[in-house]
Amino acid sequence: MSDCFEVNVSSSSSFARSGVLHTAHGRVLTPFFMPVATKGAVKFVSHPQLVNELCVECMISNAFINYLKPGLGLIESAGGLHKFIGWDKSLFTDSGGFQLILDHFVHKVTNKGVFFKNPFDKSIELISPTKAIHIQNSLGSDVAMCLDHQPLFGKSRAAYLDSAIRTIEWGLECKKAHEENVNKTNKHQLLFGIAQGGIHKDIRCKCALALHKIGFDAVALGGFGIGEAQRDMYAIIKEVKKILPKNNPTYVMGIGSPIEILNAVENGADMFDSAYPTRMARHGLIFTSEGPIKIDRAVHKNSFFPLDKNCNCFVCRNHSRAYLHHLFKTYEQNGLMLLSYHNTYFITNLMKEIRLSINENRFESFKKDFEKNYSKKEN
Ligand SMILES: [Zn+2]
Repeated sequence: MSDCFEVNVSSSSSFARSGVLHTAHGRVLTPFFMPVATKGAVKFVSHPQLVNELCVECMISNAFINYLKPGLGLIESAGGLHKFIGWDKSLFTDSGGFQLILDHFVHKVTNKGVFFKNPFDKSIELISPTKAIHIQNSLGSDVAMCLDHQPLFGKSRAAYLDSAIRTIEWGLECKKAHEENVNKTNKHQLLFGIAQGGIHKDIRCKCALALHKIGFDAVALGGFGIGEAQRDMYAIIKEVKKILPKNNPTYVMGIGSPIEILNAVENGADMFDSAYPTRMARHGLIFTSEGPIKIDRAVHKNSFFPLDKNCNCFVCRNHSRAYLHHLFKTYEQNGLMLLSYHNTYFITNLMKEIRLSINENRFESFKKDFEKNYSKKEN
């Protein structure tokens, strides 16, 4: 365990805490949410908006996708992924493990690694744990993630156990490769392991503990947000928190809805990533303090109210639901940009309020009030 993370304030009545993650590109206040920039860009939200207006301090890109296109050679020539995409703040890369649940990406999984289908030329490509690390070393992200074996939701206990064991074995390979190969563009790159085990507490805890003993900078939790009950996810987060040291920054991967984030924070989670806010925006589902709305519904056609009367973002200060409904219904791309901007603002602002409430020791009442307002009938 490195000293990349420090806890500042711990809640007196839950596992919630605020702190700081230190990376080679600066400090990131926790708990935080990372927008997903799979190909190096967040869909419909620009870098200036993320940095200057939404105050995003960290985002996550996909190592495997960048490796395929535009390719490592070009990104290395540019001086690494930060320089290539023009991002001077903290940057995570996922190894590609999440793609394991996507049929069109995976040919097969063996102990050697994952045989991916290259979506661009249909060739089969082996990504071994060592190769996953070499790719991320070359990209020079601030935080590299181990290759993990994520089973599909609903598999047998035996399948989850197998995937956890394989994830530990791959973790050992990743750690060795990282130590031997650090680094071309970021010699301070951190390496996080990813605990698997589905909703089986014993498997999750044993996997997390084994990964911790390997000596990663942190142990994250993967494989959520794919169909499990929310209460099972919260219970797993809490159990894993109990067995890992306090200074393990707990990254819960793939979570991005307001209610899930609040509950995960209550159980000790420190960081999140998900394409959910921007993906939902492109489908017209908009977060508001009084619950999600669907902007394509006829009820918004003549409404000159903002998306959310309690939101202070550019879109809510300047545009009406009627205008955004019109853009969305007429397939105007600018509408998708404005809706993606609002949803990203909503989540980043929620994280800011969560941090403040923890620091002022009133997280539980903040959560209760938020949930009460958010559960108003969808409109
Ligand atoms: Zn707004």
